[in-house]
Amino acid sequence: MYIFKRIQDLQNHLNRYKGPIGFVPTMGALHQGHISLMKKAKEENELCVCSIFVNPTQFNDKKDFDKYPITLETDIAQLIAAEVDVLFLPEVEEMYPLGTEDLKTYDIGYLDTVLDGKFRPGHFNGVCLIVHRLLEAVRPHVLYLGEKDFQQCLVIQQLISQLNLPIQVITCATLREANGLAMSSRNARLSANGKEKAGLIYKTLQSFKDRTSSSSFKSLHEESLRNLAAHEMEVEYLLLANANNLFILDEFEMNTPMVVLIACKFEGVRLIDNLRI
Ligand code: AMP
Repeated sequence: MYIFKRIQDLQNHLNRYKGPIGFVPTMGALHQGHISLMKKAKEENELCVCSIFVNPTQFNDKKDFDKYPITLETDIAQLIAAEVDVLFLPEVEEMYPLGTEDLKTYDIGYLDTVLDGKFRPGHFNGVCLIVHRLLEAVRPHVLYLGEKDFQQCLVIQQLISQLNLPIQVITCATLREANGLAMSSRNARLSANGKEKAGLIYKTLQSFKDRTSSSSFKSLHEESLRNLAAHEMEVEYLLLANANNLFILDEFEMNTPMVVLIACKFEGVRLIDNLRI
């Protein structure tokens, strides 16, 4: 596997290839969820390029940024084992040569007003900034994203169409632990017991899926909030939305593609998950 820290060196290398490039951007602390994206990118393209960059501009909470897990050595070992061709590993100065203040703002529109957009002001602007720069650096044909970050997928799809970039976006299913907990780099900050207990998040999402025809969303929502609070989960949002545009729904609508999305804090760690209905 080649490792590049500079955009110019990365591009000099990639210019030697003609076939499609599949790209998987990450913030490291890799787990099997990330690796599943790399494997797909590897299967479907001539080259699989991955990046590891903990993007400072997408953290609205400085403490969250400071505590973000970094496991570079094991990440590199996992990437080699997954036969990733190229790792792009830039420093902050390479991605933000003019610093991280007074940056461009993107027109994210409605998506920035709900769910993570509402609860993490500035987060999606930071995501757009870094994804735009990474796409300019890597110039991939196909971009692989995880459905675990459902809203992020829509924001990036919108960004790519606004910029008119010739990049295909493929969203990949969420990989989960045996108890249903969505794999996430942040899970490393949970205690072993906490990881077991956090399976409740997925169980809650599944209860919405299982009971769409027998219960109202409103009653399930109330019951779920009570149950999560009883298990020391501090819910930021638990919402039902149209899966195409994230317009919030008050009730199940059988003819609409739906998704239930949750963000909650548990053991001081902010966890998000979602499930299509
Ligand atoms: P991150 O390192 O958290 O920025 O994630 C990098 C990419 O991996 C994003 O497209 C995520 O949506 C995706 N991803 C994160 N967790 C999972 C998971 N459990 N299953 C599948 N993809 C994931």
